[in-house]
Amino acid sequence: MENLTSFQDTEIKLLESSVVDQIAAGEVVERPSHLIKELIENSIDAGSDKIQITLWNGWQNLLVKDNGKGMSARDLAKCLLRHATSKITNTEDLWKLSSFGFRGEALSSISSVSEVLIKTISKKTNKAQQLKCSFGKMGLVEESKMDIGTEVLVENLFSNVPARLKFLKTEGAEVSSIKQTVKAMALCHPQVEFSLRIENEIVLFYQKRNSLFDRNIDILSDKISAKFLHFTEAQQDSLKLKIIYSSPKETVKSSKSIWIFVQNRWIQDRMITSAFMEAYKNLLMHHEYPVGAIYLELPADQVDINVHPTKSQVKFVNSSDVYKFVLKTLRSDLEKSRWLEVGSQISQNVKPYFNFNFEESKNIKLNDSTAKSNQQSHQEQIILSTEKYSKNLYQTKNHFQDVVVSKAQDVVLKPNEEPAHRVTYWSNFQVLAQLNLTYIVCQNENQFILVDQHAAHERVNFEKLMKSYKEDRFDIQNLLMPISVDVTTEEDDFLQNNVLDFVKLGIDIEKTGPNLWCLKSHPSFLKESAVIKALTSLLNNYKNNPSTFFIEKTVADTFATMACHSSIRAGQSLSIDQMQELLTNMDEYPLSSFCPHGRPVSVEWSWYEIEKKFGRIV
Ligand code: ADP
Ligand code: MG
Repeated sequence: MENLTSFQDTEIKLLESSVVDQIAAGEVVERPSHLIKELIENSIDAGSDKIQITLWNGWQNLLVKDNGKGMSARDLAKCLLRHATSKITNTEDLWKLSSFGFRGEALSSISSVSEVLIKTISKKTNKAQQLKCSFGKMGLVEESKMDIGTEVLVENLFSNVPARLKFLKTEGAEVSSIKQTVKAMALCHPQVEFSLRIENEIVLFYQKRNSLFDRNIDILSDKISAKFLHFTEAQQDSLKLKIIYSSPKETVKSSKSIWIFVQNRWIQDRMITSAFMEAYKNLLMHHEYPVGAIYLELPADQVDINVHPTKSQVKFVNSSDVYKFVLKTLRSDLEKSRWLEVGSQISQNVKPYFNFNFEESKNIKLNDSTAKSNQQSHQEQIILSTEKYSKNLYQTKNHFQDVVVSKAQDVVLKPNEEPAHRVTYWSNFQVLAQLNLTYIVCQNENQFILVDQHAAHERVNFEKLMKSYKEDRFDIQNLLMPISVDVTTEEDDFLQNNVLDFVKLGIDIEKTGPNLWCLKSHPSFLKESAVIKALTSLLNNYKNNPSTFFIEKTVADTFATMACHSSIRAGQSLSIDQMQELLTNMDEYPLSSFCPHGRPVSVEWSWYEIEKKFGRIV
């Protein structure tokens, strides 16, 4: 019988191993930074807690040195072979990995496209050995000299594959991708010391840290000051999440500083990035981005990490659970973070905000006219002395005495209305005056603050709408004279199909004729004009994207429009009482420090900052 599987005299041939290696190298170590990542992961798998990376001649020559367990002479002889690994033995192991490497491909790929010298000393035998390999041609294991760990020296990288060089970016871009990789590796291994030296200069150095948050501060504070970074963690069934995120008050210009780690591996994932961004919805303006790091751990059978040659992407069994979990965890913490921030701004010599003494607060309400005359006298006599102010907390001068200082318990609630957050932040500010008919001037024991009256009211209205929507409960204003709205035939169809969704938005509309609808009622604290504007913008949105349009997606935008058009404007004169009431209302809703378009509601200066400016503190 003829052997049909023989490769002799056929068109199909088995590739030489040197070709196989080069093909694999194209995938595993496509760029110099991928190679650095593989070498760092090997060092971490070997139990190192100190990893030094050196580059010279751009990225063509590099050295990665660690203090891990090293290799025996026998292992050294095998480590450059394709699919030679000490980390797994069978396919089941792929689903319960405890190491970063598992394919046994990195060293063989690297050694096929460069000149490699590996020096290592085994912790077990205490013997130092070395092995050379020049563009795939392996030498013999020889005796060597070194104290600890393993060193991988890579020279003339990619010089035997000129075609590859064409696809690399500029030297600067490749080096910055290497820096990015070292930062990523440092972000998921706080217990390891990292240094990156370029030529003779140390460009990155991260000392060992006990906490993930501290390591994040080391790296993220390049972009955003540490006082604006926060930490939260959560667990839901078997999903575990840690998030470090920046306050919406401080932003950067791209989403490049959002780092994602799954099973402590650095990955790129658009779904998780978009959950992270979605949590900031209505807190950031266009082209503003937060910085942060997301660490997700899930059972090994819920995620496949073996779907990409550089292991930079993963596949989730249930990605929508992951999306919701990240979004919910971060959003709920963002809703609290305002208070954290206030805490972190307090200087050491000022009492912490949380120790606020409510007992001393006065609680007498003013009528409008006295408020106005008081306002004038305030403007003449504002005394901003930290000493006096903090000594007589709210035991203010005579002309202050009638000012309302609400306590949490004093927030007046409408029937059926529970405060979402029983916090007293804004209501504890003492209103001093209105500035330029636009800003509310206030102070508390820690700071001087200007509140934008329009942005503040807009936020309150927006949050009221969101809350009513979520709870399916609007206070409705029925119109005596319904307002007619002319629509096109297309819009008419759309309204007929979606009329119930509008009711859910608190907007009751009814068809009264061909292409004619009327608005019968709307949420009571909104102006009619705001509702009509929102209706028009919803119809426009639908017209522009009929195939992808659905109301749920535009709820927040619609409410932002309604809130904006119903709010107090700049230029409107307000009494002290009205301003104080506005601040009290802000305490009923989370996230009150940003208007729904992401503009800040307030700008503050701590007494400490002010005292420093006046040279009272050096
Ligand atoms: P993998 O990491 O997938 O096993 P590699 O080609 O990266 O494949 O490495 C092959 C083997 O070489 C590893 O399994 C490990 O046993 C050994 N090795 C590589 N780098 C080091 C190192 N820095 N320290 C100790 N052993 C190492
Ligand atoms: Mg490896």
